[in-house]
Amino acid sequence: MRQTLLLDASYYPLKMIDWKKALTLFFTQRAEVVEHHSDIEIHSPSDSFKLPKVMRLFTKVGQTNIVKFNRQNIFYRDHFTCQYCHIPFKAKDLTLDHVIPKSKGGRTDWENIVTACGPCNNKKGDKSLKEMGIKLKKKPKEPMWMSFFLLKLGQKEKSVWSDWFALKKP
Ligand SMILES: [Zn+2]
Repeated sequence: MRQTLLLDASYYPLKMIDWKKALTLFFTQRAEVVEHHSDIEIHSPSDSFKLPKVMRLFTKVGQTNIVKFNRQNIFYRDHFTCQYCHIPFKAKDLTLDHVIPKSKGGRTDWENIVTACGPCNNKKGDKSLKEMGIKLKKKPKEPMWMSFFLLKLGQKEKSVWSDWFALKKP
């Protein structure tokens, strides 16, 4: 079944929700439909509804636009790619590493934690990038919520998103 893009009151995209959740929000009058899927209808014995494609909540949702600093999200930011050898891995083969080692005052934050494969992590140990003679694939920083939202979407969801984006353009 199709998914629905949920916006907050100021049209800021929050997440994708399934159609049941979308209809619940609609019938409990917590959200309005901004756009329908043109090709899908849901039928009940007495009625039919077009499936919402984009919905907008009536209430503002505060502070949802911050990407949580955790293992999974760091992997996503780094595209599941070891930042030292630049090779992509499965999550189970990846670790997190302090670029500036903890022992040398390196912080545990978006700017100093990167995705590393096991072998690279072992090799690097407490050495600096200079000592190792390696370059990071990308300078680590806190991801922007919007681009992160897109990154985590599946292909189908992406098309809803791009339709919505096209809708907003003049
Ligand atoms: Zn590696």
